[in-house]
Amino acid sequence: MIRRWPLLLFCLLLGPLALLAAGAARAVDVRIAVLAYQGAERAAQDFEPTLAHLRARLPEHRFEMLPLDPAGIERAARARAVDFVITNPGDYVELEARVGLVRLATLERAADPGVSASTVGSTVIVRRLPGHPTQLRELRGRRVAVVSREAFGGWRVIWRELKAAGVSPADLAQLRETGFPMQTVIQSLRDGQADAGVLRSCMLEEEIAAGRVRADEFAVVGERAPVQPGACRSSSRLYPDWPLARLASTSPLLAKSVTASLLTMAPADGRAWTAPQDYSDVHALFRDLKIGPYAHLAHTTVAGFAREHWPWLAVASVAILWWVFHAVRVEVLVRRRTAELTRAIEGREAAERVARQHREERDQFSRLGILGEMASNIAHELNQPLAAIANYAEGITRVIDAGRPDTAFIRDGARGIAGQAERAGAIIRRIRGFVRRREVRLERLDLNELVRETLQLFDGQAQLNGVPVSLALAERLPRVAADSLEIEQVLLNLLQNALDAMAEGARKAQGIQVSTRLAGGMVEVAVRDHGSGLSPEVEAQLFDAFFTTKPQGLGLGLSICRTIVESHGGHLWAKNEPGGGVTLRFGLPVHDEEP
Ligand code: ADP
Repeated sequence: MIRRWPLLLFCLLLGPLALLAAGAARAVDVRIAVLAYQGAERAAQDFEPTLAHLRARLPEHRFEMLPLDPAGIERAARARAVDFVITNPGDYVELEARVGLVRLATLERAADPGVSASTVGSTVIVRRLPGHPTQLRELRGRRVAVVSREAFGGWRVIWRELKAAGVSPADLAQLRETGFPMQTVIQSLRDGQADAGVLRSCMLEEEIAAGRVRADEFAVVGERAPVQPGACRSSSRLYPDWPLARLASTSPLLAKSVTASLLTMAPADGRAWTAPQDYSDVHALFRDLKIGPYAHLAHTTVAGFAREHWPWLAVASVAILWWVFHAVRVEVLVRRRTAELTRAIEGREAAERVARQHREERDQFSRLGILGEMASNIAHELNQPLAAIANYAEGITRVIDAGRPDTAFIRDGARGIAGQAERAGAIIRRIRGFVRRREVRLERLDLNELVRETLQLFDGQAQLNGVPVSLALAERLPRVAADSLEIEQVLLNLLQNALDAMAEGARKAQGIQVSTRLAGGMVEVAVRDHGSGLSPEVEAQLFDAFFTTKPQGLGLGLSICRTIVESHGGHLWAKNEPGGGVTLRFGLPVHDEEP
């Protein structure tokens, strides 16, 4: 520790007289901390020549050596209890980062001064047995002895090489710490407690030279080509040797004179001091292993992870963003499409509603239009029964007036009047039934059943006319959606027409056949008669309103039937049968496949 500032102050205050006293007091203490990795004694022994040289060159200072472990050196440096530090490259780099050391000189091997100051490395040795490992990667699964996990040349240097060879400490069967001195590593190999041992480079040569190890006892694993002839065998790249460094607080003047002295020191024990070397490769080692000043890299903080893996993270982020964008886009498209479909369906339903309403209104208009046209026909139609009634009434009146009331004649006349009145009533009923608008009620309808029920209504009339009606109904017909009253009206109309066509004919006995079938998605009902058939003229106008060949016909039946069937989405058509007679057939679309 330098204590010159108080002295200088003292000099300034007391003037030249005091300078004399200050001159005597310049013999200040200079403390040099030395890493004692093999014990204080060994450290003192190693650096005694350096200390002796400094004492000789700078007699005004009292140099003192403090052998310390790494933690002790750091504590002393923080407390400014030392002026200089001599330590291994690894500890130097750590202290440089933590305490702010500045290197002044680096040790070099005196054998080749100036060739290379990089002499610190690791040598991995194994017992020279048959099939021993020769490559570092072969250490996977083996027991490895090291002096300490904290040692630089004793472990960290080779750790970096193992990592480069793809072997992590976890891949070793055991990483055995033997403790100092390093000879215990050799001993554990001899004892069979480890398969391989890590020595700092040159130690093997020193041990062989000292006769403690036989030259053929151990083999070197992963040996590298020597950087220069005569260099020690090494399994690793080499790093600069130990530096001597000053603290930030050390006087620059003192630092300068100590550095100048060191560079003039004659080699001792084969080693000398040279200009400070570049320790960036030591930094690279720490960074690689994520230890020491770079230990924070091992703790996977989000920021650290992001810094280290940013290219992958960028790719992953882009991929995730793209996926999110894609998912959102698909979702939006699906929703838009669904909304469009819903709108389209609603639109179609609305259009269908409007169309249905229009159709109903049109039907109503056409019925009313027909009614207008009918007015004259009605007048004409009603004229006949009314004229007949008037005739009957006149005849009866004449008979009564003659004073010879013929009761038989009067009864016949009254019956005639009643008959004609009935006929007029029927005409009016038919017209009213046609004009009256009824709400269409669609239901699932079994047409076979409807045919049977309608025939019950019609049977009496058919029998009265001596025309048999037979049924040929298809089994398990699917149902249709229809208004049963309207379809019944259609069927009754067709039956009535068939009956009318056969009433006077000679083939009455052949009767009327009603049949059902499923054809082309339609359930069809056919009414076949053996009547007069259709002449080409009749066939051409069959479905026209007011077309009739019957004296009392209205000519509206088939026209209305076709309107009803078509309003159900079906068809009605007529066909002359080759054997005579006609088949009137209508089909309605299947509503569901279930019968
Ligand atoms: P109407 O029965 O009041 O005459 P329709 O429209 O029911 O009115 O029939 C029109 C005409 O079609 C009938 O007058 C008749 O000439 C002819 N017609 C209908 N059905 C048959 C049938 N089964 N056989 C022959 N002609 C028929």
